[in-house]
Amino acid sequence: MGAFDRILRAGGNSGHEESRPQSARAEGLIQEFENSEKGWFWETTRDGTLSYISESVARALGREPSDLVDRPFTDLVSTETEDGSATSERTLGFYLSSHVAFQDLIVRAKTKNEIWWSISGRPVHDDVGRFFGFRGFASDLTKMRQSEVELDRLARQDALTGLANRQALRRALDDALVGAVRRKHRCSIFLLDLDRFKAVNDTLGHPAGDTLLRLVALRLTDEVGELGQVGRLGGDEFEVVLPSMSSKDELSKLAQGIIGSLSRPYTINGSAVSIGASIGIVTSDYDDRTSDDLMRDADLALYAAKAAGKGCFRFFASEMHEAARQRQLMESDLRVAVEKGQLWVAFQPSVDAMSEAVTGFEALVRWDHPEQGPISPAIFIPLAEEIGLIDEIGELVLQTACKEAANWPDTISVAVNLSPVQFKSPSLPATVRGALGEAALAAHRLELEITEGVFLSNDEHVDDMIRSLKNIGVKLALDDFGTGYSSLSYLQRVPFDKIKVDQSFVRGASDPTSRNAALIRAMVGLASDLKMQTTAEGVETDEELQLVRDLGCSLVQGYIFGKPMPAEQARELASKGAVERPDAHLEKREPRIRIIRATLLHHAGRVIGARLRNISSGGALVECREEMPVGAPIQLDFAAGGLLDASVRWAEGTQFGVEFAEKFDLRLLQPTKPAPKSVTMMTPDFLTAGPAETSESA
Ligand code: C2E
Ligand code: CA
Ligand code: CA
Repeated sequence: MGAFDRILRAGGNSGHEESRPQSARAEGLIQEFENSEKGWFWETTRDGTLSYISESVARALGREPSDLVDRPFTDLVSTETEDGSATSERTLGFYLSSHVAFQDLIVRAKTKNEIWWSISGRPVHDDVGRFFGFRGFASDLTKMRQSEVELDRLARQDALTGLANRQALRRALDDALVGAVRRKHRCSIFLLDLDRFKAVNDTLGHPAGDTLLRLVALRLTDEVGELGQVGRLGGDEFEVVLPSMSSKDELSKLAQGIIGSLSRPYTINGSAVSIGASIGIVTSDYDDRTSDDLMRDADLALYAAKAAGKGCFRFFASEMHEAARQRQLMESDLRVAVEKGQLWVAFQPSVDAMSEAVTGFEALVRWDHPEQGPISPAIFIPLAEEIGLIDEIGELVLQTACKEAANWPDTISVAVNLSPVQFKSPSLPATVRGALGEAALAAHRLELEITEGVFLSNDEHVDDMIRSLKNIGVKLALDDFGTGYSSLSYLQRVPFDKIKVDQSFVRGASDPTSRNAALIRAMVGLASDLKMQTTAEGVETDEELQLVRDLGCSLVQGYIFGKPMPAEQARELASKGAVERPDAHLEKREPRIRIIRATLLHHAGRVIGARLRNISSGGALVECREEMPVGAPIQLDFAAGGLLDASVRWAEGTQFGVEFAEKFDLRLLQPTKPAPKSVTMMTPDFLTAGPAETSESA
């Protein structure tokens, strides 16, 4: 603008006459400038009426310069600014009437189309210093303003969903807080996080994830309506600012409504998709918490909602600060523990379901906190994943486990848990090879346990990783089977050697009302079709042991055979080869015998044909076409000993377990004389289990 100013001065009437050629040149330049339509010149008389205005601007206004001359300059300018407040005109009028120079005054033209100008001007005085009028120039800001408005809009909007973005939400919250103080009410925020969104994104792809986010945005806006401002913070995190809502009841209702709405299935590219939502809620109190403070509190409440099992909402409570502090402390304590080598590894045996011989140990990492005592890996492993310590911990467990296993008999293997985070690390195969090499352990004696979580990320990478691990020669087990997303397709694809049935299935499986036994049976069937072994996890009682045996699980792991134990104890057990179980005397001496034998079943005055599938001195597994109610007293007729009183302990479809009223003498099953046409095939289980085991360890 400096150059134009000089031109103005040059053309001005300040009493210092310039040489003609110079002023002629200036005139030429002025014309050049006017024609460029980038700006225009104006001049007013003493009373503010226009005495000159560039042709270009008159044309832009659809007039001739002669139409405008002699009219008040202020007539060209709108009295309204962008936000409707009437200031501009007065300001221009103010300057003109107060004879004060002004610069870059932004005004809107009084036209239908939006035209914006930046006007500068200064008063002109005659030779004796009398005010003569104004002279100045203006430039057109219309295009710039429009793009500014557009930019501003874009800067406040989330590009994907069209919702308010983080900055706009921040402003909305600031405004809500100011409004709340002024109107003596309280405002609230919802912080929302979608549950299982990552799984959708990873399995259906990013475009599907984007579509899902847009649909979520629509439902969310629908639910919130006029109550507040909905926005997206990024990823799958949303926020709602509720400027005048603070009743716990109303907030709960709204939160529940949102969770319900977002949890209804979506259809994306023809597939039904289900997600959930967790919400953290915070309400401003009459305190001096800033919007940052409130957001932090809402975040803690959201964390609590997720920790409470997701799909729910939680109000912020001040104790959450303490919990967060504890978490931070634990984080730094864990770093120290790793550095100082305070983590150690325990070993839990798994045994052959029939022979009860120890087949392997699972390595389970342990942390004895100096003040808090033992902390569960279920707590610190996720923490280690979050703060990037898992690779280091994983490597430590792997090395320790391999070294320990090298002390055991060759037939006993060691299992190591891998977190999905470790599984993503390209250096994992090298780490595994290193641990095996250093311990001089045969690869087939190491089993890596992975969970379904591994399959939720990028498929190619997972397949590659599985291939390179299998190439090393290690075994693979699918851990916690049945608890994850259970998209079973990977079972066909991945060469697992073993499936570990999660302990939640074992727990309560002997309860006849639970479907768990049926589910275990289905898993065992699936595994054996795919030539995989099955381990029943978390077996604690004789009853559970009996059940998982009946259901066909090949291996058992659980407190009944031993809790995770220090390495020395595991070494001792490994060399003994079997667990001594005080309660196992019955089965030990009189093993359960697999049998197929026709029997007659007396129940409620009727006699039904049935088959015995296995039998011990205490009870039997029976199969018949009719379902038997649990607890029903029955009688069986299959042996030389006459009718046998029994009761139904559990039932699963057409199979059920019975308990004999009195101990049954298994010797009665032996045919006393050569049977003419025997319907009995007797095979003690430890015999049938034998060949399978040798092929396994070969
Ligand atoms: P997991 O892999 O399912 O391990 C089995 C868990 O069940 C162990 O808990 C074990 O002590 C417990 N358990 C075994 N038998 C019974 C039983 O009869 N009854 C009951 N109630 N529990 C039983 P733990 O050691 O607390 O480990 C919990 C989880 O932490 C593990 O679950 C595993 O996911 C993770 N974890 C443990 N060690 C490691 C590790 O070195 N690396 C990784 N990535 N994860 C580990
Ligand atoms: Ca495991
Ligand atoms: Ca498990």
